[in-house]
Amino acid sequence: MQWSHWEWDIWFRDTDVVIIGSGIVGLSAAIFLKTHVNNLRITILENGSLPSGASTRNAGFACFGSVTELLDDLAQSSENEVFDLVEKRWRGLQRLRALAGDTALNYETHGSYEMFKSDEAATFSECVERIDFLNKKIAPITGEPQTFSLADGQIKAFGFAGIAHLILNRSEGQLHTGQMMQTLIRIAREKGVQIFNGINVESIEDSSNGAIIHTKNAWEIKTKKVLVATNGFTRRLLPDLKVTPARNQVLITKPIENLPIKGCFHYDKGYVYFRNVGNRILLGGGRNREPKQETTDEFGITENIQDYLKKMLHDHILPHKKIEIERWWSGILGIGERKSPIVQQVSENVVVAARLGGMGVAIGTLTGEEGARLLL
Ligand SMILES: Cc1cc2nc3c(=O)[nH]c(=O)nc-3n(C[C@H](O)[C@H](O)[C@H](O)COP(=O)(O)OP(=O)(O)OC[C@H]3O[C@@H](n4cnc5c(N)ncnc54)[C@H](O)[C@@H]3O)c2cc1C
Repeated sequence: MQWSHWEWDIWFRDTDVVIIGSGIVGLSAAIFLKTHVNNLRITILENGSLPSGASTRNAGFACFGSVTELLDDLAQSSENEVFDLVEKRWRGLQRLRALAGDTALNYETHGSYEMFKSDEAATFSECVERIDFLNKKIAPITGEPQTFSLADGQIKAFGFAGIAHLILNRSEGQLHTGQMMQTLIRIAREKGVQIFNGINVESIEDSSNGAIIHTKNAWEIKTKKVLVATNGFTRRLLPDLKVTPARNQVLITKPIENLPIKGCFHYDKGYVYFRNVGNRILLGGGRNREPKQETTDEFGITENIQDYLKKMLHDHILPHKKIEIERWWSGILGIGERKSPIVQQVSENVVVAARLGGMGVAIGTLTGEEGARLLL
């Protein structure tokens, strides 16, 4: 269908920037651009009726690293790289909190805990040995001298079974993912960003005169600049980029009377995670159990991951309790060999900001801003 003159005049004339994807990265980029250059005409094109990737479907951990995660990173990257990323995650969180406000985010700091079973004694003692080192490295970033400490005394209070040790990270928090995204959408719209939902971008044609965006519903939008913020779906548009999709499945229980668990919990190097949401438990992950199956950008719930998460719930987290699960869902991560996001120019007028792994809540606002800066 051709646009009428009126449609073109109001919605598509003189577009300065098209952002593809309305996750935390796309929205943060749009807000940053409008804050710095108020008269830019910015359009976000979003495939889903709601943002439909990771940003509305995650666990809401406001996290910058558990001990095993950081030690794993140190085994693969230089100290500078690892703590630069911790610093970015911390700074990104502060930026998000300043932008949206703690009340709007329902931001809470109950800390986070890493769990170790008794058959993980070697890993645990390696972690214990490195706590002082990590605390010294993180103190200048967060201002907290004792980020990590042993918290075995809490195991009983939380009611866990089969868990031998806990390490507390006292500086991590948690937020309401839906409130975060609703707030970012509101701020973007208030600043004059237009968001079209249900629009699937099929291709981008870049040239020295600007870019043309081709969509599945046959729109052709001319724009000066483009930001691709499609995370786990990026290869559908930019096949050469090193972003691999990874599905994560999640459950939430019905409310549980006198739930003793408060805070965020990491297990199995962060592949499994759970937290309280009021008096419910949200539990997700386990994609390392079925790596081939879960390397996909298709949403879906599978029996094998469901069984694994249910066993974790019943055997360790809420033993001896009759628990009802209210809802299951999945979300799509973008991961890669390297942990840091890709923020780069891919052609004359096109920039990509993607591959946020499991840290987009923390780092997404900054990644969006970094992508936006490359467009200015
Ligand atoms: C289950 C789960 C739990 C997680 N838990 C946490 C956590 O606790 N803490 C944390 O920090 N991080 C967590 N993450 C990671 C975090 O959610 C992501 O890193 C972050 O949301 C990525 O944001 P994004 O904007 O880059 O991508 P997304 O939120 O995925 O946004 C990309 C958007 O692009 C749209 N899109 C894709 N292709 C097209 C196209 N061709 N045309 C138009 N639109 C398109 C998609 O519909 C989507 O809305 C979790 C992720 C998952 C899946």
